[in-house]
Amino acid sequence: MDAIPEGDGSAGGGGGGREGAVVLICFRVADTSVLLVAENSRIDRCADCREEIWVTAASRIAAGATARLLCDVCAGEEMYAAMKRGQHISLQLPTPGQIHELEDRLGR
Ligand SMILES: [Zn+2]
Repeated sequence: MDAIPEGDGSAGGGGGGREGAVVLICFRVADTSVLLVAENSRIDRCADCREEIWVTAASRIAAGATARLLCDVCAGEEMYAAMKRGQHISLQLPTPGQIHELEDRLGR
């Protein structure tokens, strides 16, 4: 279950503010006891803290090849900092492919 903030770089800039930067928010592998992991998920690393994170196939497609992959902790910190700077952040709703992955995992 990944979310994709998309905006003016606020969520993805790490303080840098890259225009149109897309960040794919991913859950840490270490936190999997509390979340649902799609069967086709692969392990990658957070671009900031290097923690292992889950990334699903549909999320990679939705985010695009240039998206920064961040764990939920780092993404939250970046979004908070961006909001304090007054930068715009938008969150993309799950794509049909991401919803399908979740439904598969839930057996629906
Ligand atoms: Zn991180």
